[in-house]
Amino acid sequence: MGGLGFSKLQHVNDALLLKWTWRFKKEGHSLWKKVVWGCHGSGRMWPLLPYSPSATGCWRQIVKIGEKRIWNGNTLNSYFVGIVGDGSSINFWTDSWLHNEPLRFSYPNLFRIERKKWATVSERLLVFNGEKIMNWHWTTAPSSAVQVTELFSLLSNIYDYDWKGGSDEWKWTADDEGVFSVKQAKVLMSSGPVQQNIWCMNWKGWAPLKCKMMAWRVAINRLPTKSELVKRGVPLPNDTCDLCSNNEETTSHLFTGCIFAAEIWSRMETWCRLSPIFAFEVVDLLTLADVQQLSKTNKYILKGILITALWALWNERNNRVFKNNRRRAIEVVEFIKATSFFWIRNRSKYKEIDWNAWRNSPFLM
Ligand SMILES: [Zn+2]
Repeated sequence: MGGLGFSKLQHVNDALLLKWTWRFKKEGHSLWKKVVWGCHGSGRMWPLLPYSPSATGCWRQIVKIGEKRIWNGNTLNSYFVGIVGDGSSINFWTDSWLHNEPLRFSYPNLFRIERKKWATVSERLLVFNGEKIMNWHWTTAPSSAVQVTELFSLLSNIYDYDWKGGSDEWKWTADDEGVFSVKQAKVLMSSGPVQQNIWCMNWKGWAPLKCKMMAWRVAINRLPTKSELVKRGVPLPNDTCDLCSNNEETTSHLFTGCIFAAEIWSRMETWCRLSPIFAFEVVDLLTLADVQQLSKTNKYILKGILITALWALWNERNNRVFKNNRRRAIEVVEFIKATSFFWIRNRSKYKEIDWNAWRNSPFLM
């Protein structure tokens, strides 16, 4: 099959999947939406649609399409914009309404302390006699400098927001009429230069070569996972992931879909104070440092930490498979902190890094 033909077919397929996002946003309280909430409403990731990382199949595909970045760097989801009426059906943090991206991206430090991640606009904001009143529900009150700065910026944006009243509406901004169409979605996806998410291994980083080699094999899908071994005709008692005992052990599952991996990434996110990690594929983890708002030095530090984390996860998997030796996710994260500390001190120019500072946050000012 010609490459062009294939890519066109891919766009049709993606556009059809994307239509579900539009339907999910536009349709009121239909039954299928309730089913989706039931299955995915408790997930720890916060894309535009409810999603739990252990989910597979069609819904995973639908959510993934929306998070995909097209040629101009925008995600497909960024074209779905809520026009707030009474705010009862638009999510405060996870939908785009105030900016052209969800507030969870603009204010990650506030989003972290939000108690109800799926809160609607009307749950956080009341308009009474033309006056806007906020109704926060934090796990702990914003107190750090970054939290307070974000809060002031958010409040001033909300006060400037022009209220339309009436009922909530959704607009698809890729179309002049504001209405989603599969035809226009195909045009959107196929226009502009094709952007390929190619990851370049940084062989100069501070992580040891054995870890870089392993990360490289992950990137090109050459890791001997059970599913790869089975494909090559190696007889195995089972192809189940030993980290969760629930799914087939593929590279993608092991490092992104697995609930054990998800806990590791969540703890890493807290330690490094990263904006929320959305890893659908391994390449999302490998390119993570590039999409974070960090200085050059801190990106250099983070890249090494990520490689250490991938290596530690694979190490944990091997200990379970070959030595029947299991650690909890929190112990693996402590191991990542200690190992990366040892390596960066011995293998980079940052020899003065202090252990207590490192444990608190690995980044330099
Ligand atoms: Zn698993």
